[in-house]
Amino acid sequence: MAHDLNPLQQMIKNQLIARGIKDEAVLEAMQRVKRHLFVSETDRLQAYGDFPLPIGHNQTISQPYMVAVMTERLRLRQGEGTVLEVGTGSGYQTAILAEIASEVVTVERISALSNKARQRLTGLGYNNIRYIVGDGALGCPEYAPYDAIVVTAAAAHVPRLLVEQLRDDGRLVMPVGGASSQTLQVLTRVANDVHCQDIVNCVFVPLISETI
Ligand code: SAM
Repeated sequence: MAHDLNPLQQMIKNQLIARGIKDEAVLEAMQRVKRHLFVSETDRLQAYGDFPLPIGHNQTISQPYMVAVMTERLRLRQGEGTVLEVGTGSGYQTAILAEIASEVVTVERISALSNKARQRLTGLGYNNIRYIVGDGALGCPEYAPYDAIVVTAAAAHVPRLLVEQLRDDGRLVMPVGGASSQTLQVLTRVANDVHCQDIVNCVFVPLISETI
């Protein structure tokens, strides 16, 4: 007898696996983190839809596929490594990262969003996340170098300070381009060199910073 899939299982099958997400650690993390807990009561029925949703302050929780593809491209190993996330937002991707990496440092410029995400993630039992309020374009040198950096807001170029805070062989994923559309780029630091690869077109809210 066929079993009906719930909305979360449908999201994993139809939006992630069907589009080529293969990393078991990412798929399992996205199975464990319930996206409906990161959106407003009024958006809960749409929480597993294939789109971003508003989280207040003109910001969004990212589309599940984007969260998956960005996390996959960080090439994290289960239980290992320190990740810097720029743009905490709702804390949804923070939770996915915290499920896989050993430690997550997450920076958000809007203190109300950071506080809400901290409260939510602490309530869910995450104890391997550091919350910073500030300009993530500066990174967070205090805990550098990072095995991986993910920037969940777009800019015309990757901030130099972020690349400098990557470990050798560290990976950085970020949407790069104009205000209306960008390309998701993966940068890999190899000694003092940086290799860059374009992944997919995307649309993200802007990275707001006076330093870039
Ligand atoms: N990944 C998040 C989630 O799952 O909810 C979505 C993040 S949202 C698309 C982008 C976030 O980046 C917003 O919360 C925005 O306030 C934040 N942001 C924009 N510029 C920033 C900056 N310079 N430093 C830190 N955060 C920034």
